[in-house]
Amino acid sequence: MTKYVYLFKEGSAQMRDLLGGKGANLCEMTRLNMPVPPGFVISTEACAYFTEKGRYPPGLDDEVGGALAVVEKEMGARFGDEHDPLLLSCRSGARRSMPGMMETVLNVGLCSRTIPGIIEKTHNERFVYDAYRRLIMMYSDVVMEKSEGIETEEGKGIRDRLEQIMAAMKKRHNYRSDTELTAEDLRELCTQFKKKVKEQLGREFPDDPKEQLWGAIGAVSKSWNGKRAVSYRRIEHIPDEWGTATNVQSMVFGNMGETSATGVAFTRNPATGENKFYGEWLPNAQGEDVVAGIRTPNPLNEETKNPQNKHLPSLQSKWPALYRELDGIRVALEEHYTDMQDIEFTIQEGKLYMLQCRNGKRTGTAALNMAMDMLDERLIDEKTAVLRVEPGHLDELLHPIVNPDAEKKARAFLTGLPAGPGGAVGKIVFTSADAVDWTARGEKVILVREETNPEDVEGMRAAAGILTARGGMTSHAALVARGWGKCCIVGAGEAVVDLDARQLIVGSLKLREGDVITLNGTRGVVYQGALAMMDASENPRFQRFMKMVDKFRTLGVRTNADTESDARVARDLGAEGIGLFRTEHMFYGKGSDEPLFLLRKMILSNTPEERRAAVKELYPFVKRDIKATLGAMEGLPVTVRLLDPPLHEFVPQGKDKQQELAKALGIRPSDVRKRGEALHESNPMMGHRGVRLGITYPEITEMQVRAILEASAELIKAGKKTKPEIMVPVTCDVGELDATKVVVDRVHREVREKTGVDVPYLYGTMIEIPRACLLADKMAKSAQFFSFGTNDLTQMTFGFSRDDAGTFLPYYVKGGLLPADPFQTIDQAGVGQLITMSVERGRATRKDLKIGICGEQGGDPASVEFCYKAGLNYVSCSPFRVPVARLAAAHASLKRKASEGKGA
Ligand code: ADP
Ligand code: MG
Ligand code: MG
Repeated sequence: MTKYVYLFKEGSAQMRDLLGGKGANLCEMTRLNMPVPPGFVISTEACAYFTEKGRYPPGLDDEVGGALAVVEKEMGARFGDEHDPLLLSCRSGARRSMPGMMETVLNVGLCSRTIPGIIEKTHNERFVYDAYRRLIMMYSDVVMEKSEGIETEEGKGIRDRLEQIMAAMKKRHNYRSDTELTAEDLRELCTQFKKKVKEQLGREFPDDPKEQLWGAIGAVSKSWNGKRAVSYRRIEHIPDEWGTATNVQSMVFGNMGETSATGVAFTRNPATGENKFYGEWLPNAQGEDVVAGIRTPNPLNEETKNPQNKHLPSLQSKWPALYRELDGIRVALEEHYTDMQDIEFTIQEGKLYMLQCRNGKRTGTAALNMAMDMLDERLIDEKTAVLRVEPGHLDELLHPIVNPDAEKKARAFLTGLPAGPGGAVGKIVFTSADAVDWTARGEKVILVREETNPEDVEGMRAAAGILTARGGMTSHAALVARGWGKCCIVGAGEAVVDLDARQLIVGSLKLREGDVITLNGTRGVVYQGALAMMDASENPRFQRFMKMVDKFRTLGVRTNADTESDARVARDLGAEGIGLFRTEHMFYGKGSDEPLFLLRKMILSNTPEERRAAVKELYPFVKRDIKATLGAMEGLPVTVRLLDPPLHEFVPQGKDKQQELAKALGIRPSDVRKRGEALHESNPMMGHRGVRLGITYPEITEMQVRAILEASAELIKAGKKTKPEIMVPVTCDVGELDATKVVVDRVHREVREKTGVDVPYLYGTMIEIPRACLLADKMAKSAQFFSFGTNDLTQMTFGFSRDDAGTFLPYYVKGGLLPADPFQTIDQAGVGQLITMSVERGRATRKDLKIGICGEQGGDPASVEFCYKAGLNYVSCSPFRVPVARLAAAHASLKRKASEGKGA
């Protein structure tokens, strides 16, 4: 017979799948002899059974009864007893943490029979009615409304109604805080609550402890399929079959008076990673009061003080012995789990209890700092350190930071909460509109506000950094800034923002609009003037970490770069070559006037003679560009793609450009327009582009190949190394490759004869049309390398236009028809099959076929992992994604090793 119920002392952290994260860790803390109130876990399997069959497995009743009897014995109190009743909490907890998505009910077991007993035992009527009103609020909301599938309008649920009743009572008595409510008030409140419950839900509030317990257990199981939980699972790709465990635990009370309290803490600072205990607590409170933000929580210790809470006593100063005990647990937990823990604790009349621990969420900066610290503390090894930083974390780490040396010498004039990481220097502006205008003028600005509201979004986006006088870590500004990875400091309480006078006043210091300040958003401090900034990639810790990353990586990482400067940036960030150099780049943007003019001449030529002449004029520009980038890569491989886009993209639209061109070609402006119109295509993405241009106009291919090979020959002659790779785009048949190769071979011979250099090169193709995948074995006869152009391949496989998919693709993703946007992360189910197949077929023909990917997805961690598994040699991504891809590649190798280890 399956066992469904486990006492805390029977389980362990290893049993996370069966007992859920919360349950498994409660068991583990119990095993470590930490002060955990006794309880038991009903397994995820029981929930899965319940979800499937609509009832619990037979015998669960007895199992729960048996476990409860053990708990009662340990507690010396009985559930439902008249004189000394035990109260329980009923808590959800899935395999993976789903914060705030499922339900918990506290104080189960309070009813007309048990209330007098507890009052007598505790001599604390106020506490008992406070606990009872909380039970009614949670239970009616979770069990009687949500789990019954009753839907209400926003703000009209039973919980909102009861909150309103409570608010009205506080207002009537002129109370500011919940703690001012007297025993009398609370008893009265409970009566009003029960009346409202009956009125709104049509049922009495249950007065029987057993009924309450099973109601709560059932509601927790059902909350697995609650709306919030289901949509959270979609986003996080958590399987529906998992189910949640239900933790039934003896209650301890942080709301028993002034020697009781409740709190949450992190064993290290989750924003900076500093090895300092970090937390918040509230005296005389229960459960989620700390996070709910009803009262400003007290700081745990000196290190946790900030402008908003520094007047409140810390736990460390108020109860030093308890603090020391908690700090001891902190150390023990870190040693045991070898990772930063996020903990919940409660103090009941001077005695400490642990209610939860789990690996804590952290910012990117904190992840890096903690990984490196723990490595140095010998808590973890290098592999673990590499796995502790998520590829996504690096995004944030690559933002500039304030140079630590400059910071040591400077003195901050203002501090606030570190809401958005990184550093920023800029001129002060006071409105969102100014932030937008000044930035458009090329200024860097810091948007300074009393507090931000949703209308400030534009300005926040434009500004280099954001500073507000009010608001907490969860305020609007903080959330938005963190979402964008933008430097932001909120709640700088000493700041006075005078919008009318356009002044930021801090004590005797007055700063005006346009004055320069520097923000350190990672620490929450503000300096006058401009402090030196530093690229995070120069951060020695980051570099040491990335070196370690490369030890565990086998997949290569290249970059997509079209200019010398991009190439240099990417090399600094660790790129091992260029996977995609687009020749057309020189026709866009700065410095493109002349080559673009010549390209247009070429496009609008009517005869092969005209075209050859234009191509000849264009040649030096193409060669110069290619040579610069090949030179910057100093012998690393550079894949140069032949001209790809449809020609009509380059036809001049403006009158004056048309006139200029007409003059140069010696034709009428109207002819220019006509020739341009002749190039028009109704489906240019599938039109005259890529290799097709070279098939019709071999002189275009010839010119580009000559540019690549002569540039290389010149570099080699100058004693430099170079590894060009000629890549033919948009192919669907090996015939195209063979035809192009004839041109390449001839030009190669000519260059050798002219320069005396036999340029080493590779010849290959982009794979971006499904037919090319199907015929990969044939393609590999001509191609020495493949590079998956997953943007076009996705477009062609789905039949979704990349430029127009925005109108419908979001509906597919939101509606769960597709797990993600396939243009952002490789569609492994479909496009992935084509890739795997091409790899197999291509390598069957040519064992040493080099294979890479150069689509946008090359920098997406999930896609990188897929490419590794598919056996690619490298991924190529934009320069700033290179570190992300390197880390993702290391994770992919380490995860495979770990799973092989398990299998063996
Ligand atoms: P969540 O997963 O949303 O954090 P929890 O199950 O941890 O939900 O419970 C919500 C709150 O109730 C937490 O603050 C927790 O510490 C508190 N709580 C849960 N069980 C008990 C208990 N047995 N005694 C006292 N407080 C409890
Ligand atoms: Mg919660
Ligand atoms: Mg919790």
